[in-house]
Amino acid sequence: MPDKLDILFINPGEPNQIYQGLSDEFCAFEPPVFSGLFATYARQKGASVAIVDAPAIGLRAPQVAEVATKIFDPTLIVISVYGFQPSASTQNMTSAGTIARLIKEANPRARVLMTGTHLAALPERSMREEAVDFVCDREGPVTIWRTLEVLRAGRDDFSTVPSLWWRQDGRIVKPRESEVLLDDLDREMPGIPWDLLPMDRYRSHNWHAFDHIDDRAPYAAIHTTLGCPYRCSFCCINAPFGKPSYRMWSPEAVVKEIDFLVAKYGIKNIKFVDEMFVLNKRHVLGICDLLIERNYDLNIWAYARVDTVQDQFLDKLRKAGFRWLAIGIESASDMVRDGAQKKYGQEEISDTVRRVQNAGIHVLGNFIFGLPDDSHERMQQTLDMAIDLNCEFTNFYCAMAYPGSALYTMAEQSGVALPAKWHHYSQHGYEMLPLANKHCSAAEIVKFRDEAWQTFFTGARYHSLVERKFGPKVLAHIQRMTKTPLRRKLLEDRLVTA
Ligand code: SF4
Repeated sequence: MPDKLDILFINPGEPNQIYQGLSDEFCAFEPPVFSGLFATYARQKGASVAIVDAPAIGLRAPQVAEVATKIFDPTLIVISVYGFQPSASTQNMTSAGTIARLIKEANPRARVLMTGTHLAALPERSMREEAVDFVCDREGPVTIWRTLEVLRAGRDDFSTVPSLWWRQDGRIVKPRESEVLLDDLDREMPGIPWDLLPMDRYRSHNWHAFDHIDDRAPYAAIHTTLGCPYRCSFCCINAPFGKPSYRMWSPEAVVKEIDFLVAKYGIKNIKFVDEMFVLNKRHVLGICDLLIERNYDLNIWAYARVDTVQDQFLDKLRKAGFRWLAIGIESASDMVRDGAQKKYGQEEISDTVRRVQNAGIHVLGNFIFGLPDDSHERMQQTLDMAIDLNCEFTNFYCAMAYPGSALYTMAEQSGVALPAKWHHYSQHGYEMLPLANKHCSAAEIVKFRDEAWQTFFTGARYHSLVERKFGPKVLAHIQRMTKTPLRRKLLEDRLVTA
């Protein structure tokens, strides 16, 4: 009889619920980086671990529950609720909750812990609403390991575990103290256990591979930092860390992981998941120098802010294999950006985009419609600015009050309608509900966003850029994408009631 598995990590998610038809061809399938990092931490402590990445291997919730209870039956099941970006944790809670409930129905003795950005933001509510034994209200690795220690010892008093919400005699017990964040990431959480992941199932976002659209796989995503020192009002990134913070793996550790990915899997497409990579000079240039020495033919994308892209970074980033920088532009309106704590001007935005492009790096411009001070006129200015900037790819989002963000606290206080179910927070979902503001209703914002998206991606100016930079095959790909419309319940309901 083999030893019982200590921890099974589950990455939840239903791509169709979140992306509708876009999940078939256009969206990415990313490795579950937080499940991987936590598995590494536990493995180093001596635990046996496994990972079930449900979206990657196409398992629906009933199958995940069956695999968890009948095949693995571990001491502890950890449902790690993260996504491609911090705000994507909430949208995966519907799937995570269903998986937890089905596991408990199949085996009431299974011990289930949930962790993730959403859980850190709403731990008590999650304990009340979800079929789980434990919720972690911080990052996770230490809490998960300490919970396992108590379970292994056969004890049922979890009061010594930091950041763990648990139940005693049917009552919810809150943790006495918070998990202390790891401060030596190289030593304590050195990368992802790639051997536990279905590496043949991952593929990059479509735009990430515009330079070689037929080679979106193999693909990897890694963290080189955790957290962000900024406080943008719509962002929930720091919920698991308790406050704005920034920790880094060393350049040597990051590049060692890339060495492995290149040698073992022939990886070319890499996402740096860090929401704020281009920030610390020593970190950025240290990684660039080591990658330049190796001269791999990489296609990396990473995040930057308009006000963190220094000229001294750009040449080295390009030589190191950074082909895309994603930049949060958000709005054309100074007033809307200021309200979101992004205090830089329009000239600075245009200048940054051009400097990045002139260095031979493509720009992914991110825009948000419907932030608190946004109006029809300002949304139109934002669309005009996106068309004018003509980035190599553009994301249009609607403002959402994600749990863990300042916007969520403001929305709760003002009583504005919030989505009824967690997957209604998905930007591309059928039932999504954006945040209304004093100028526009939720329906008006999503309608504007969807029409803006069509306007941009069917525009002659953008098509000409795509054909010139990436060729006719990518242009045909874009044209297929614009024929994959998103259905919106909010707009269909309006038609019915009009
Ligand atoms: S800079 Fe980016 S990651 Fe940091 S708080 Fe703002 S939106 Fe979030």
